[in-house]
Amino acid sequence: MANSKRDYYEVLGLSRDASEEQIKKAYRTLAKKYHPDLNKDPDAPEKFKEVQEAYEVLSDPQKKSTYDQYGFEGLDSSGFNFNFNGFGSAADFGFSDIFDSFFGGMGGMGSMGGRSRSANANGPRKGEDSYLQVRISFMDSINGLSKTISLDVEEQCPDCLGSGARSKDDIKVCPSCNGSGRVVRQTNMFGMAMQSQSTCPDCHGTGKKIMKACSKCRGSGYIKKKVEVDLNIPAGIQSGQQLRIAGKGNKGYNGGPNGDLYVEVIVSADKHFVREGDDILIEVPLSAVDATLGCKIDVPTVYGDVELTVPAGTQPGQKFRLRGKGVKNIRSGYYGDQYVIVDVVIPSSISREEKELYTKLKTAEGKGKKNVFEKFRSTFK
Ligand SMILES: [Zn+2]
Ligand SMILES: [Zn+2]
Repeated sequence: MANSKRDYYEVLGLSRDASEEQIKKAYRTLAKKYHPDLNKDPDAPEKFKEVQEAYEVLSDPQKKSTYDQYGFEGLDSSGFNFNFNGFGSAADFGFSDIFDSFFGGMGGMGSMGGRSRSANANGPRKGEDSYLQVRISFMDSINGLSKTISLDVEEQCPDCLGSGARSKDDIKVCPSCNGSGRVVRQTNMFGMAMQSQSTCPDCHGTGKKIMKACSKCRGSGYIKKKVEVDLNIPAGIQSGQQLRIAGKGNKGYNGGPNGDLYVEVIVSADKHFVREGDDILIEVPLSAVDATLGCKIDVPTVYGDVELTVPAGTQPGQKFRLRGKGVKNIRSGYYGDQYVIVDVVIPSSISREEKELYTKLKTAEGKGKKNVFEKFRSTFK
């Protein structure tokens, strides 16, 4: 997976000496461009994830310097894949290492099954991991959410415990391979005796012959079951992060345990709040009069309204920080901030009375000093 990954700077369209501000800006632009809610292109979710991952690393000075020095390798070996033991309630649901493939994404799914590969083809082997997406609202991603999902899982048959036989006495050693599961073929090539091994065609490698099949599972050893799984989505989860639910993936082999289920959480975009790391941005419109004279406004935050004093002479695009009103960091538990960005709105039509006042203002502005445009103009000689 690592070799197919694109360089993080390349993902964000930046050069290696990009500033913190440039990284932020590129991320914001691309995250908006590829957000699955806004971009219906089939490649968009993958691109969105790629951008998020790149930003996650390049926005963190420590990870960035590791990446700059050692590339992807450095990140892997420095324990970059998070392990979570911190959730009190997580254990109740059997999530041992939630997020252990935090950045695995879809690209990583193929390799996950490989972890449990056993040397013995006959022996019990863990099944492949399966993958599922759930979509949650922006507010649920801020506050966390417990959600029960129901899914079909193939589980070991309780009657035969996965053997597929009606009783123990119905399991005999496969006569074709004498229980080894493999057959050896002798061939003679250029006067040399060659041996080749292959899986026994009669028992398909199990080494057993079932005389009477279990009636509950018809010999397969597994039954399909509807199970309810409690998803405990922690506050602060970001779109694209995954929860691991042990043992709810695909069925195991030869009585082995099921694989794991990975649930990727997709967070819907909010109409007003934009998340940037642990911070939240919100743009608020202000009239030119309020920006000029200053005012007090009730700014919405994800935790309710907060009063903000906008000082006189506030400029368009000016940012105000509401400390601690951002997102709770999943690892540290600290809260980010909310940034309020002022958008000064100029009216497109005004009343007669307003017009009179503006005209008065213009007269006052002209007295004795140049207005802003005249000042600007005078710098062109
Ligand atoms: Zn056999
Ligand atoms: Zn059975």
